[in-house]
Amino acid sequence: MKIDTNKVVSLSYELRTDGFDSALVEKTQDDHPLEFIYGLGMMIPKFEENLKGKEKGDEFQFKIEASEAYGLSNPENIIELPKATFERDGSIEEGLLVKDNVIAMQDNQGNKFNGRVDKVGDETVTMDFNHPMADKDLYFKGKILDVREATPEELEHGHVHGTGHHH
Ligand SMILES: [Zn+2]
Repeated sequence: MKIDTNKVVSLSYELRTDGFDSALVEKTQDDHPLEFIYGLGMMIPKFEENLKGKEKGDEFQFKIEASEAYGLSNPENIIELPKATFERDGSIEEGLLVKDNVIAMQDNQGNKFNGRVDKVGDETVTMDFNHPMADKDLYFKGKILDVREATPEELEHGHVHGTGHHH
């Protein structure tokens, strides 16, 4: 069966961001393949496009340009905040404001964001709210483990019902 819209795809992959032979960034565990319903827009469009028509047992290797992956970073998403923003009960947790530390934050409307500490000044902290994978080209290598029809229930829910699925 070939990968196409409304098929459940199960695959293993390795992700690198600096060439096919660069350092490993992410990898599926043997007992936890990536599973998704093809064609519902759950994955990066270019990722799905590169898998179309493949079958169980096929291997793949492709590159996705940053602009077609998680996008390019936007300078407007790099924001300088007063240090007091990070205080809890009048003090700042030790180890919180360290370069590259990722902090879960919330705006006035209750929207949640992850920000990465970019610079720590005397009075302010510069936070980068761009996607951690912004500006990165993605190099995928992997193997198709299974392709099957999605069940009507899976299509209705918009997700895969496999082992370990919880609602
Ligand atoms: Zn469900």
